[in-house]
Amino acid sequence: MQRVDHPLLSPSLGSHKTLTSFHFGTPGSGRKIYIEASLHAEELPGMLVAHHLRALFEAAETAGQLQGEIVLVPVANPIGLAQRLDHKPMGRFELDTSENFNRHYPDLAAAVEPAVRDVLGQDAQANVRTVRQAVGTYLKNWRPETELQSLRRTLLTLAHDADDVLDLHCDCEGVLHFYTEEACWPHMQELAHFLGAEAILLAKSSGNRPIDECLSGAWWQLADRLKAKGVDVPLPQGCCSTTIELRGELDVSHAWAQKDAQAIVAWLQHLGVLACSQPPAVPAALCAATPLAGSESLHAPAPGVVVFAADIGQVLKAGDLVAEVIDPIANQTHRVCAGVTGIFYARIRDRYITAGGELGKIASATAFRSGELLGA
Ligand SMILES: [Zn+2]
Repeated sequence: MQRVDHPLLSPSLGSHKTLTSFHFGTPGSGRKIYIEASLHAEELPGMLVAHHLRALFEAAETAGQLQGEIVLVPVANPIGLAQRLDHKPMGRFELDTSENFNRHYPDLAAAVEPAVRDVLGQDAQANVRTVRQAVGTYLKNWRPETELQSLRRTLLTLAHDADDVLDLHCDCEGVLHFYTEEACWPHMQELAHFLGAEAILLAKSSGNRPIDECLSGAWWQLADRLKAKGVDVPLPQGCCSTTIELRGELDVSHAWAQKDAQAIVAWLQHLGVLACSQPPAVPAALCAATPLAGSESLHAPAPGVVVFAADIGQVLKAGDLVAEVIDPIANQTHRVCAGVTGIFYARIRDRYITAGGELGKIASATAFRSGELLGA
């Protein structure tokens, strides 16, 4: 294992933050896997999973079982991790710009298309190498002006040539669920099943450019761009990515983290990145994949105290009561009911809600939304 410390741009006199990556295996010896945790810095289950993965990867490396390269970033957002306000963690948005740490990643397809358009040929694997090199050059030439940009550039530099990207997040309260682009789903489905995902949300693209979709979206978007311009070359999906929501913010325990780390190891054995005598069988799926555009976000019609009637993980029918929002001044109880049928996969942690606030999400099988599909 090799540890590399990457200094971020200093935003202020006397202030320096560092991003640390751990590298296992040998570059070029097989698939490259990139795993990062806690890009939304108060989402800590993944950080503990990364801690357990580190020990498992070290053991695999020592035993000569690693056939490829793994890059692990257990603390993907040292900026957000240090942000606190009124004794509370503030790790989702940068306090300076109010930007979500997992949005606004660059459009890599647009960035590299001019450089690759005329040099790609009929060899698909050579095209993958050419595009990765072009992305690498783009990132090398990117001169970040802020600490936040330098964090984004550092993470992308570590991940841009990976075959598989796992971004470990969690919800406020939730069951384990899985977001991936449609182009990545065929390859990623075994991982969802090893992890025991209870909701799987697919989108062609969810919008707002989170890091996972920046990396995998680059490939199908570049292929679309080339096709539209009449450039007929084979370009495989050179990177598959996923955002894994490891339950809720308070679900930080060794039992969960060891289980999740073992699931990721089993998947890596299944892929052949970690050698083993008997690759593990893929577990049966706990749910079918559903469209992210079919996920209903429930909103409070009025401010008040939230009393949930539905537990996370519960399968609801349209019309079922999800929560009551109680106004003790007007002596009114507002009922919030499911508009769709599906699993109630995530809900808020707070028990007070302001007017219009989001209460929770239900994964239904039928798409009904369009536009930007991710929340703030
Ligand atoms: Zn998150």
